[in-house]
Amino acid sequence: MTIEKVGVVGAGQMGNGIAHVLALAGYEVLLTDVNQDALTAAIAIIDKNLERQVSREKITAEEKSEAMARIGTTLTLTDLGPTDLIIEAATERETVKQAIFEDLIPHLKPHTILTSNTSSISITRLASRTDRPEKFMGFHFMNPVPVMQLVELIRGIATDQPTYDACFEVVKRIGKTAASAEDFPAFIVNRILMPMINEAVYTLYEGVGSVKSIDESMKLGANHPMGPLELADFIGLDTCLAIMNVLHDGLADTKYRPCPLLTKYVEAGWLGRKTGRGFYDYRGETPVPTR
Ligand code: NAD
Repeated sequence: MTIEKVGVVGAGQMGNGIAHVLALAGYEVLLTDVNQDALTAAIAIIDKNLERQVSREKITAEEKSEAMARIGTTLTLTDLGPTDLIIEAATERETVKQAIFEDLIPHLKPHTILTSNTSSISITRLASRTDRPEKFMGFHFMNPVPVMQLVELIRGIATDQPTYDACFEVVKRIGKTAASAEDFPAFIVNRILMPMINEAVYTLYEGVGSVKSIDESMKLGANHPMGPLELADFIGLDTCLAIMNVLHDGLADTKYRPCPLLTKYVEAGWLGRKTGRGFYDYRGETPVPTR
């Protein structure tokens, strides 16, 4: 199965990065969102990020303009009907994703593969509500998409081998590396990463270390490029909490109990970088630990 045209649903931080890497690799991309401002912002961000690659001599100015010319935008979801592959990267809410697939299905070609970039929703369950569970899988990019090398490919229980192979080829063509994961809560990266971040928050909660000493310990003692609390602020503390809840509910093991201090930060609206405050306060010149 040859994939030429890709439809990307949702033009937020993940959707614009996905459109960027696909267009650069030569795919025709049609990006859709319910919000015109999101589409306009996405095109501006892609342009800026490609320009940065030109200035670092990673790509030529010609490659940039060719990539930009391959990206179309539309507010009409059903315009994505003639594509070969759909990558859904809309808001992380099951009802939203389900409605997108329901609306799309009558307009798709029989061979079109459906995928979701979800971080936590069951691929098997999303697939079961479509007309083609065997042509449905998880296509999980990491943030920021143009920078991160990994894509997790997640098979639902019904996913067939040609579908997996076609997605594997796409990952190869965009120059990234695929890790194959089975459809269990949080897949591989978040299954391992989030409990570590949650443990770092427990370490803070129990007074074992301060924000600074915990982050420094993991950077200098375990050679991590970012401390776990700094990383949590980057990801968003609401996202970290949501993923811990998915692990806790989905695996029913108390070892995944979200730290009460993480819940407290989310209740305060201190969600990390995006709200200006989390384990660090970003409102000044340099980040200052909040504990
Ligand atoms: P975001 O909030 O930045 O973007 C979501 C976009 O979806 C918004 O522009 C919104 O207008 C749009 N949208 C909402 N409903 C829609 C609909 N019915 N049709 C079309 N567009 C719609 O979110 P994001 O961080 O880009 O996350 C998107 C997906 O990627 C989620 O499933 C998330 O779990 C997953 N993901 C996120 C990250 C991350 O670090 N942010 C990493 C991996 C995967």
